[in-house]
Amino acid sequence: MEAAFICTDDLWAGGFGHTHPLKPERLKRTYELLTAYRAFDAPHSHLVAPDPVSREDLLLFHTAEYVDAVARLSRGEKNMPALCYGFRPDETPAFPGMYEIEGLKVGAALTGARLITEGQVQAAFSFGGGMHHARAALASGFCVFNDVAVAIHWLLRQGLRVAYVDIDVHHGDGVQAAFYDTDRVLTISLHQAGILFYPGTGFPEELGTGAGYGYSINLPFLIYTSEELYLRAFRQVVPPLVRQFAPDVLVTQLGVDTHYRDSLGSLLLTTRGYIALVEELKMLAEGSRRWLAFGGGGYAADVVPRAWTLAYGVMSGQTFPDELPPAYSERHGPGRLHDTAGPEPVEAGVVEKTREYVEKNLDTLRARTRDVWRWE
Ligand SMILES: [Zn+2]
Repeated sequence: MEAAFICTDDLWAGGFGHTHPLKPERLKRTYELLTAYRAFDAPHSHLVAPDPVSREDLLLFHTAEYVDAVARLSRGEKNMPALCYGFRPDETPAFPGMYEIEGLKVGAALTGARLITEGQVQAAFSFGGGMHHARAALASGFCVFNDVAVAIHWLLRQGLRVAYVDIDVHHGDGVQAAFYDTDRVLTISLHQAGILFYPGTGFPEELGTGAGYGYSINLPFLIYTSEELYLRAFRQVVPPLVRQFAPDVLVTQLGVDTHYRDSLGSLLLTTRGYIALVEELKMLAEGSRRWLAFGGGGYAADVVPRAWTLAYGVMSGQTFPDELPPAYSERHGPGRLHDTAGPEPVEAGVVEKTREYVEKNLDTLRARTRDVWRWE
């Protein structure tokens, strides 16, 4: 596979502020680590700057009123009803320059979509994007513009059918809602169950409406779900459905807040489980030879750069030495690319509950989508 990493240092030029969990530093460090491994000097690997985004691009998904509101809030205009557009100081605060920085993520998504449809690369990684919670007229969950939904709309306009797989620890609610009534986009989200957990949705009963029935698939997990159980469930749902759907493009959101040390999520994945998922997704992308990958959540500063470096290694066919390169470790401390430890053992009773919950959800999915999918 030829692979593109879509990046510019403008991506980390600003953000929600230093006390907010979504720190631009995560992106900077990922780029530094890949650069230290000389990942962009390898054959089949391309470092590509994002194209600027236009207002028309944003309107592929967002409403004109919302796009204008983001622009005005970004300029620091007072007397704007920020709350009406989803901007809350305690969660998704408006910040100066927001229109440009968040818009750049959409530009990156469309750059990736263009590269894969033109056949210049087979995999494009917009690691700074994956803002899967934003709605057409509402910011939500640290997400201002839904770069994923804009890119999928653009791909649909090219006449292509899209399978979207979201492995962020949070439900991909914004993308699901954007394509809830169509059978041209299959959305599959695996996440921590929305029981007292943001965004509170993503249950197996949410299956789509009208022609879209059966094309929104959700597999929630209880807290403390193990890597083994997660992987087993993933393999029972994602490969069989994506293969049957046979998309023209595979779009994935690769948030790494499923990691056992993440501060927001409570699932127990390590980098090894995470990369096993990315490798499965690569195999699925080999069908269409068009893979548009996004970053997403992930809040442990020393985990995110390692996980996304490993993910880009899978896309571009590179394996990196496990010891972190000196150019990186001198700045951020020594360590290994893969985790050297894992989560504490979980009580047997909890293990049993997490397993029963998965079985129940798989039964629900199979029973309710029997007329849409062949289940293996
Ligand atoms: Zn997340």
